[in-house]
Amino acid sequence: MSETSSPPSGKHEDAPRIALFGGTFDPPHRGHLAIARAAANAFALDTILFAPAGIQPLKAGLTATPFADRLAMVELACAADPRFAASTLDAPQPDGRPNYTIDSLATLRGQNPQATLFSLAGADSFLTLRKWRSPERLLALTEWIVVSRPGFPLDRLDSLHLTPGQRSRIHLLETIHEEVSATYLRDLLAQNQYTNDLIPPAVAGYIRQHHLYSKR
Ligand code: ATP
Repeated sequence: MSETSSPPSGKHEDAPRIALFGGTFDPPHRGHLAIARAAANAFALDTILFAPAGIQPLKAGLTATPFADRLAMVELACAADPRFAASTLDAPQPDGRPNYTIDSLATLRGQNPQATLFSLAGADSFLTLRKWRSPERLLALTEWIVVSRPGFPLDRLDSLHLTPGQRSRIHLLETIHEEVSATYLRDLLAQNQYTNDLIPPAVAGYIRQHHLYSKR
């Protein structure tokens, strides 16, 4: 019957649509939630996995808040939308190695053989793709949703020298203009200044309770 037959790609029409959203989430903020919500709506995603990285290879050496705290904050932030879920896919490696997205995506694929997989990234992050491990495989493993971020024009994608086939698997979402970063928020918090609506209230409560980001 036509309802049960698979489309030519071999994927089932009702296959779950899952996106991996990697980052440092130090702390999670309004920009993260805005881009995840916009991506879920625009691409009919069932699930977005917010996966804080144990060690982000391109930020290695920069002090990050302990993984357990970042995961706890991400869990609180994910309560904002039933399609959001915190993931330990990028939890710290037992041997202290950095977490590479290529490994996380391979694991995700193994766990979800039928799913249509996406990777979600802001423009600043995606524009560094050539510095990531195995960029060609990364582009082949999932579709990519790349979201606009102030200061990082998406026309700079040309600098990545993508083939037409690679380009066709990259979807741009240019409706987001969130002028917020975790760096800016860490500075505000260190000066005991209000973060207003830039951090979800439950996350702000966790930060206060655990004395994160305050100057010692
Ligand atoms: P930091 O300031 O510490 O570098 P960040 O605010 O960029 O942190 P990350 O956790 O590193 O936050 O970001 C995770 C992902 O979310 C990245 O792909 C990043 O590009 C994207 N992102 C974060 N903030 C925004 C924003 N305001 N607009 C668009 N994308 C964003």
